[in-house]
Amino acid sequence: KSHLWDSIWLAGQRDQAPGTIFDKIVAKEIPATIVKEDRHILAFKDINPLAPAHVLVIPKDRNGLTNLRKASAEHRDILGRLLVAGGEIANDSGLGFGDGARFVINDGPDGGQEVYHLHLHVIGGQKLGSMC
Ligand code: IMP
Repeated sequence: KSHLWDSIWLAGQRDQAPGTIFDKIVAKEIPATIVKEDRHILAFKDINPLAPAHVLVIPKDRNGLTNLRKASAEHRDILGRLLVAGGEIANDSGLGFGDGARFVINDGPDGGQEVYHLHLHVIGGQKLGSMC
């Protein structure tokens, strides 16, 4: 039977990876162009955009989600929130998005991941070509 203290202990055990620059963005310790924020998620412009519109959506609390392969049932809510926020962002022509976008999650060295705090890339503002 699950207990509150067990959950807290397990959360601590699961997230031993060092913090990243995204924690500093969440804490507003370093600047970012924030385009959407609520209690759970933060979205900001990518500092090195791959297309005219490029936004990253992250959970404010990493909670073990360094990368998608760490996801488990406890992350269903936050993963849904990331996708819904990503879709809303891609609908915002004020951010430079047109009729469609690409939603990308890089995972691990082979997936080209650089920052180990799960993030959804929302990329658009032009007609995108092949994936890789
Ligand atoms: P990844 O390769 O999927 O881990 O993507 C990391 C992304 O974070 C890259 O597209 C970087 O340009 C972006 N990035 C790194 N540092 C910052 C920052 O301080 N502000 C905004 N974006 C950043």
